[in-house]
Amino acid sequence: MSAIPKTQLVSLFETTGSLDVLKTAKIASPQIAAANDIIIKNKYAGVNFIDSYLRKGLYPSPELPFTLGQESSGVVVAIGDEVTNFKVGDNVAYIAPKAFAQYTKLTDKSKLVKLDDNLSEDEFKIYGGALLQGLTALTFISESYNVKKDDFILVWAASGGTGSILVQLASQRGAKVIAIASTSEKLAKTKELGAQFTINYKTEDVAARVKEITNGQGVAAVYDSVGKVSFDISLESLTRKGTFVSFGNASGMVPPLVITRLSAKNIVFVRPRVLGYVETPQEWDHYTGILLNALQSGDLKLDISAVYPLSEFSKATEALESGKTSGKLIIEIPQ
Ligand code: NDP
Repeated sequence: MSAIPKTQLVSLFETTGSLDVLKTAKIASPQIAAANDIIIKNKYAGVNFIDSYLRKGLYPSPELPFTLGQESSGVVVAIGDEVTNFKVGDNVAYIAPKAFAQYTKLTDKSKLVKLDDNLSEDEFKIYGGALLQGLTALTFISESYNVKKDDFILVWAASGGTGSILVQLASQRGAKVIAIASTSEKLAKTKELGAQFTINYKTEDVAARVKEITNGQGVAAVYDSVGKVSFDISLESLTRKGTFVSFGNASGMVPPLVITRLSAKNIVFVRPRVLGYVETPQEWDHYTGILLNALQSGDLKLDISAVYPLSEFSKATEALESGKTSGKLIIEIPQ
């Protein structure tokens, strides 16, 4: 077992608030305390909106100070006596809190997946940022609404982290993806990923364009991560018996829904959370298996648009919160 230093660098906040509450701090490293503990030496961690929701206090943080980060890749450096499914030296990726740290303690029941031996740095980067948004896209196109060939599917923030994966996976199923984004550069990216139609919501009337594209019918499902400003447009764009998958709040929380608004077109409304679809070991193995295969085969591409050192997490989240980024932002953990 490798020795774990007594202290480590992490990105944390002590009180909720704006970007200036973020700190790179030295705190005690985790140590094996229970027989099923696993300690990971992190390499690359993914930046997600949930980090900013927690920092702002939009989602409650379970403790203060709070170490940020929700997913990472790395190497197992220590295990408790009863761990049998992982060994020291295994390359892994995981979804769990406290990933913006040099070391993270998990257990043998955590959302952890073994990766191949001998990974390149680029592969560690991809796996460090692929799980959260990859599993979100994969489970939401399978379970929230089962996307089928020839379905019209509307995707907001389509060049973003989750959106760019939704576009690829839905297109590969044969769906006709209508991608929405704020700039022509972002929309051009979505075309490369497989979108058949694009709409710039800053300059075009989305609901009218959707009607035109779908011959007046509307889309079978909408994937809406933008929230507050997109809600009404999404509802208007759906076909009769369409499915509204509302899964994020990039522009702010969706105001309380008057459910009778769903009756006009018999809309199915779902507000899913990715971890709710990969809760059991069987679900986790099933979906991580599909996702890792798609990444390994090259069928699914993770568009990493920037890599920031841990000490610059505040710049990374500022960029994500600005709404100007495409693809995935990654944090490089100091080794
Ligand atoms: P993205 O990479 O998609 O970035 C957000 C995008 O949203 C921006 O690039 C921008 O794209 C668009 N946007 C529109 N309005 C705003 C605004 N006011 N401020 C910022 N961005 C805006 O982010 P993610 O893929 O990481 O996450 C998207 C959402 O999905 C988040 O709310 C996140 O919490 C949620 N999510 C939910 C999950 C779940 O389990 N329910 C799992 C994963 C993510 P454009 O310029 O094209 O409009």
